Amino acid sequence: MRVLLYCDMEGICGIHSWEQTGGSSPMYQEGRELYTEEVNAAVRGCLAGGATSVVAQDGHGGAYPNGRAFMNWIPSRLQSGAEYVRGYRWSSYIEPFEKGECDVIGFVGAHARAGYEDGVLSHTVSADGWYSVSLNGQEISESAIIAAIAGSFGVPVGCVAGDDAVCEDLSAFLGAGIPSARVKRGLGRYAVRMLAPVDARALVEETFKTAVQSRDTWAAPYVVSAGAVIRVELASPDRAKPMAEYAGVTQVGPRTVEAEGATFYEAWSKLWRPW
Ligand SMILES: [Zn+2]
Repeated sequence: MRVLLYCDMEGICGIHSWEQTGGSSPMYQEGRELYTEEVNAAVRGCLAGGATSVVAQDGHGGAYPNGRAFMNWIPSRLQSGAEYVRGYRWSSYIEPFEKGECDVIGFVGAHARAGYEDGVLSHTVSADGWYSVSLNGQEISESAIIAAIAGSFGVPVGCVAGDDAVCEDLSAFLGAGIPSARVKRGLGRYAVRMLAPVDARALVEETFKTAVQSRDTWAAPYVVSAGAVIRVELASPDRAKPMAEYAGVTQVGPRTVEAEGATFYEAWSKLWRPW
């Protein structure tokens, strides 16, 4: 069993402020510790469940622009027994999919999409630059984007850890109640009722262990049977203009762009370019 973990910071237990997710605030160091330890718990769970390979990717861009992005973990504290992808652009690490080296993906620290009620630190791709992303008319989250990329390569989703909002939303998107470690409940966007982080880690470890052992609980690979139309609504027209110049991207409104593809990944690849 080869597992790929997509990790983000906003859905980690104990994190509910932007100060904990990047920049020069001392609270960012606290956030890095919380993030690292919860990812470690997920790795331990996967290994205990029988995973033969665990690769985790840091999908949080937080250090940018004050440092290189996607380098939030504390390397010296990472759990042994897995490999870690750092410094690599979000949603673009598909090497295990292309090589057929991933059997299932899981999400750690996932957060709800922009506008989702009581989603802790909810946003989609960019908290200030992007208003929404929709697939064939349905608004989707970052986790749904990753799930649909994996699905484009026939890879299913096995489990998710995050707040109540993202767990509910991802299960609804995938059409199945996937194993979920709900580590906190949003009381608005910036307040939570949460577990103690040490208890959240135990929950994540147990949930991921059981999920790896229980193939019948996974959601089927997410496939768009009749093609994908992805629409991105930006926050303002100046943000739409550069994207509209990408090959295969159409501007359909002052601040709205669209791309189509036979698979989700084909459409997404047209929209998604290096920063
Ligand atoms: Zn993030």
